[in-house]
Amino acid sequence: MAAKKTPARKLTAAKCKPCKGTGEVSRPVRVGRKHRVVGEQTGMCLACFGSGEAPTN
Ligand SMILES: [Zn+2]
Repeated sequence: MAAKKTPARKLTAAKCKPCKGTGEVSRPVRVGRKHRVVGEQTGMCLACFGSGEAPTN
């Protein structure tokens, strides 16, 4: 009988919370002196720097 080996599980990094692992976050775009919000744009997540992985420390 063949001994079943548990495959070594690759440790996956925890997903970054602010961007949910996507590495991008949407942020409101403001224009004018009153900083009116005109829409949203995606930008690099500053918590994980675009990697999508939660910082370890
Ligand atoms: Zn992130």
